[in-house]
Amino acid sequence: MESLWKDPPSAELKQLAYVSRLLGGDPELVLAGGGNSSLKVVETDALGRQVPLLYIKPSGLCMATIQGVDFTALRLGDLEPLAQREPVDDEEMVAHVRRAQVDPDARRPSIETLLHAFLPDRWVLHSHPDALLAVGNRPDGPARLLELFGADVPIVPYRRPGAKLAHGVAATRRANPSAKGIVLHLHGLVTFGSDAREAYERHIEIVTRCEEAAPLPSPGPAPEPDRARAIEFAPRLRGRKASGVLRFDDDPEVLAFLDDGTLLEAARRGPATADHILLTGRAPCVLTELADFDPDTEVYLVPGVGMWTCGGRIEDADAASDIYRHTMRMIRRAGGAWQPMSEEDAAYAEDWPSQTRKRIQPSADGELGGKVAWISGASSGIGLATALRFLEAGAHVVLSDIEELAAGSEGLLNNPRVVFTKCDVSDAAQVQASFDETVLAFGGIDIVVSNAGIAKSAMVEELALKDWERSFAVNSTGHFLVARAAMRILRAQGLGGSIVFNASKNVLAPGKGFGAYSAAKAAEAQLAKVLALEGADMGVRVNTVHPDAVFADTGLWSPEMRAERAKAHGVPVEELEDFYSQRNLLKRPVRPEDVAEAILFFASERSSRTTGAFLTVDGGVKSAFPR
Ligand code: ZN
Repeated sequence: MESLWKDPPSAELKQLAYVSRLLGGDPELVLAGGGNSSLKVVETDALGRQVPLLYIKPSGLCMATIQGVDFTALRLGDLEPLAQREPVDDEEMVAHVRRAQVDPDARRPSIETLLHAFLPDRWVLHSHPDALLAVGNRPDGPARLLELFGADVPIVPYRRPGAKLAHGVAATRRANPSAKGIVLHLHGLVTFGSDAREAYERHIEIVTRCEEAAPLPSPGPAPEPDRARAIEFAPRLRGRKASGVLRFDDDPEVLAFLDDGTLLEAARRGPATADHILLTGRAPCVLTELADFDPDTEVYLVPGVGMWTCGGRIEDADAASDIYRHTMRMIRRAGGAWQPMSEEDAAYAEDWPSQTRKRIQPSADGELGGKVAWISGASSGIGLATALRFLEAGAHVVLSDIEELAAGSEGLLNNPRVVFTKCDVSDAAQVQASFDETVLAFGGIDIVVSNAGIAKSAMVEELALKDWERSFAVNSTGHFLVARAAMRILRAQGLGGSIVFNASKNVLAPGKGFGAYSAAKAAEAQLAKVLALEGADMGVRVNTVHPDAVFADTGLWSPEMRAERAKAHGVPVEELEDFYSQRNLLKRPVRPEDVAEAILFFASERSSRTTGAFLTVDGGVKSAFPR
């Protein structure tokens, strides 16, 4: 591991952020908000007093991007006396730390605050390095570390993070005044120094020697990936999991690991460090069939297929995946000798009493938190407005469209909860491929918005057969192909679901010159009712929205369409939008956002007792009312 120290800022707090980013930027040292760092200074307070302070990384904040202003300041004078007393329990520790905060509203400081406070050194860095854990997490680990480092790096036996560990580290430091760092057995590394560079270079030096002592063997041969099995398996696994989303990984390195019985057996023994348990659970579940399913983990290893990691949000599942990819490498370095913390300690870490350990609930994201929505015709207009509304409600969204994403919306693709698939809904193979991609990206689906449509205006006597057939291919068969693929996944998953069809006001009140469109849309609406009957037994609700004249729906209202409809209604083309607004009762234009709101209602639990229904979003078209 190479030192990346170069041109640090001179202000000390900025330097603390700088050195933290150096550690946090290397996933072999720090993963998913783990690790922490601190600096001790003396500052003058508002009353002119000299106050010794500890600046420490807040709990869960990412070290890779941390800035100087992010650190929380604590009065050392309120923490140091605890070192002379019997260790307090977690609750008391949290209360003491909170009272020591200079700003009570600052971010909650790291769970390892006392460990930093009790050390006499000005600069303290803590991480969970892959190579160090690979050397230490085995029965002969302490002996190997002692052989490597002697008194330079003494070892503190495993203790649960908290006051007892802080006391143990402080006592070890006092007994070893010339130490460069301390190994927390089965947990990680602490280095310290009188300046930032010293603490950092010691970190790099210790990890480098561990890398040499436990080199990473090349992965064994990997079997061929079995994507067909993965696509079949994922929704059933998600169904058992019952909430959240799944990240799938069948990289050759993963498949090779899953093919090695010795490594798999070692993996079952537990996590690399307690910090990982929040996202991965205590130990992975190795399964070849669903009968072996264990709900009590976030990592599922299926030999010959791949790894699934779970989370309320895909960001959590991704973090669990990162952690487990690193854990696999640590286990490969340690081989069959891998021996992490005891089951009892892992169980304790899982139910950490401290509030920092609460799992993130999907519902915290909004009414569609933890849900996956697939939307057709999502590049523009109603489909795009629906996708944006669903994202706001916390959903993971797959946008599918025959066209690229509308200009200006490409930024959406940077959102980890967004996937875009190019798909012509009238092509069965493309529809299936889009759903397969969805299942691989998120594990399954909960909501399908069958929205894609095309319009062609012509009097029946002038309508070309190919235009009639194309309208049916998209506006009718397209909905059938989407619904068929979706129903198969929803049935395999067994978690219910919601399908929302975007039909048209024309189903209820057709206009002349719109035969191909209205007839195909009527078929779609009838299909929706049949699906409501067929989906009810598995809790799948199927409803329809009937919008009218949504001009901002750029996909439908081409200049050609505008001209054709203006002609059909006998109005100048520039007055067409106004004509449609004026013909509805409210005399207001209908926007994509208005339709998206109706779709969200059907997609969400707010309409949990409604299926086979329709909702008009047309400003009140007189002839649409039943007579
Ligand atoms: Zn730690």
